[in-house]
Amino acid sequence: MQNDFFPDSQAGGVHKPEVNHWQERAAWLKAELNRHSHAYYVLDNPTIPDAEYDKMFRELVELEQDHPDLVTSDSPTQRVGGKPLPQFEQVRHALPMLSLNNAFGEEDIVSFDRRVREGLNTTEDITYSTELKFDGLAISLRYENGYLVQAATRGDGTTGENVTANIRTVRAVPLRLNTDTPPAVLDVRGEVLMFKADFARLNERQREAGQKEFANPRNAAAGSLRQLDSRITAQRTLRFFAYGIGVLEGAGMPGSHSALLDWYAAMGLPVCRERAVVKGAKGLLDFFHSIAEKRRGLAYDIDGVVYKVDRLDHQQRLGFVSRAPRFAIAHKFPAEEAMTVVQDIGVQVGRTGAITPVARLAPVFVGGVTVTNATLHNEDEVNRKDIQIGDTVIVRRAGDVIPEVVAYVPELRPDNVRRFVMPATCPVCGSPIVRPEEEAVARCSGGWIKCPAQRKGGLLHFVSRRALDIEGFGEQLIEQLVDKNIITTAADLYKLGLTALAELDRMADKSAQNVLKALEKSKSTTLARFIYGLGIRHVGEATAKELARHFGNLDAFLRASEEQLIEVADIGPVVARSIVSFLSDPLNIELIEQLRAAGIHWPESEPAAAVPKPFAGKTFVLTGTLPNMTRDEAAARIEAAGGKVAGSVSKKTSYVVAGEEAGSKLVKAQELGVMILDEPGLLGLLDRQLPEVELQQEEQQQGER
Ligand code: NAD
Repeated sequence: MQNDFFPDSQAGGVHKPEVNHWQERAAWLKAELNRHSHAYYVLDNPTIPDAEYDKMFRELVELEQDHPDLVTSDSPTQRVGGKPLPQFEQVRHALPMLSLNNAFGEEDIVSFDRRVREGLNTTEDITYSTELKFDGLAISLRYENGYLVQAATRGDGTTGENVTANIRTVRAVPLRLNTDTPPAVLDVRGEVLMFKADFARLNERQREAGQKEFANPRNAAAGSLRQLDSRITAQRTLRFFAYGIGVLEGAGMPGSHSALLDWYAAMGLPVCRERAVVKGAKGLLDFFHSIAEKRRGLAYDIDGVVYKVDRLDHQQRLGFVSRAPRFAIAHKFPAEEAMTVVQDIGVQVGRTGAITPVARLAPVFVGGVTVTNATLHNEDEVNRKDIQIGDTVIVRRAGDVIPEVVAYVPELRPDNVRRFVMPATCPVCGSPIVRPEEEAVARCSGGWIKCPAQRKGGLLHFVSRRALDIEGFGEQLIEQLVDKNIITTAADLYKLGLTALAELDRMADKSAQNVLKALEKSKSTTLARFIYGLGIRHVGEATAKELARHFGNLDAFLRASEEQLIEVADIGPVVARSIVSFLSDPLNIELIEQLRAAGIHWPESEPAAAVPKPFAGKTFVLTGTLPNMTRDEAAARIEAAGGKVAGSVSKKTSYVVAGEEAGSKLVKAQELGVMILDEPGLLGLLDRQLPEVELQQEEQQQGER
């Protein structure tokens, strides 16, 4: 049988055995799956994407179905999870904690529903309870007479790890159930997980402390809960959702799964709101699609949804097969991570000249599409992740986000990998590539005059939906127009005639006419769209709107000085400098005049009143982790309010904003008597509610004057 999960170019790689016999193949799959299960469940440190694991798992299931004698008790298909870590006290689950069977396509769901109806010997529509498949780790919480007495991980399903001390630090888990009539014994089953924002903050902290970052929220949650020192768990924000039950004594079992969840919620246990009770396969699929749409907006990662037969007596009748129940199934989303080989690393030139290293990949299906290129962001990122040509890498494509290379797989690195070297000159126009010392991004120094890549990027931005919104201008059309030297700037777009357009490839008279109509229509626009369309560095859609609101008309904007720009809400010194530098280039001014002359217009008004800048002249230093804002967010808000953010504390520092785990900067601030704020203090200042000490200081200063 062909080994189909390592890409062909990996032939001869470390783990591609020469197997031609199913027995050997099965043995190899078992060994590989066991090795990866250990890394995933025991060490919380998987080295391959889940989709690769699932592919091997499915292959083994199929082999075992065809050759039942291959099924051994140690086969990963017969077991749940991994062995508990010996460092933890072991807990034997009174009722086993199982896994879930997975389904990927609609036909799998239709068959599941059919099997359920057959199992219950009915032709009627089944009522299902539908919920999310949280990407965390399973936990069993034992409450006795309403008090939390024990928490155990799933472990191998029969025996888990005692993590009671750690769970007690998780605020989402009630230590006491909110009921006057608690059951004598209740095992609540659910998932411990880490929200995306908490995960980002944790990794930021790990990075700052020079410690290893977690690959994803699931590993971070598992690594944080399975700590021998519960003080570490206490510093990590973990959450919990209840979704199941083990032993129940001293209370009647609810009749259905949905009633069970309602009961939990009434007792103060967190139950996710995104759940429903539906009928039949159609109800299941409708739920799946509605969640798929919402998925990006959720605060936490899910990798699918779970369907459970609602009636608990029906669940019992259906029972279990080896490692999973028959009454439930996980309907998974297409995998967002896959493994492939980096065949080369090239560079792409953006509209501002930014040079982005791009991995050229052996084609791989991920996030629902075939991907051949993935961004590596910038040179530092390539070095930090140590990604080299020839490496096997994990590629991620989540939703519509540009695919990116997450990491390389160390154990699959061949001897002949090559490092990426940033070219000295732009591959498109040959101008030198420069990288100012304090910047992460290298740029082509040619500018749009010399560099066709920047010209194309700028034009595509100008015609894009949020800018001038000129329909019919795709990448191919812009490419042809620039390559044939028909247009150079956005103003040239408005000089295009029917004949020139109709002569282009794939351009019939009709489409040429449509393009001209769209151009004409775009002339009536808004000042915000126009400013955004200019493609000034650091001026995104929101900033452009703010600029338009503030200045009201183009001439006022064109005349604005750096100081005046800083007065605009949300504009800090970096953005102000970038605007001034753009507007001081005569070529840009000429372009703006030509566009105006072409007839582009918008309603103009008088400038709005200046927004006060409460932090003008004040210097802030940020340290530690704030509960709700990342440091970048806090810095952006301080700068937008006119303040400066500095890296170190001195006598000149006005405030130190300190979060959890603040280090030496906080000590220095205390020594120097610099005012220290926490997050609410900073937010209060931003709202112009100066904290008391500040008011006292101001009053004192006024008294001294
Ligand atoms: P699973 O994640 O496929 O499903 C069972 C688990 O789902 C339960 O134990 C529970 O923790 C969780 N769950 C989340 N929401 C739930 C809900 N609403 N109701 C019930 N359960 C819910 O189970 P598994 O057997 O732990 O793991 C298999 C998965 O782990 C696979 O998808 C596999 O890709 C991954 N894995 C990856 C590697 C790797 O190396 N990358 C190794 C081993 C396993």
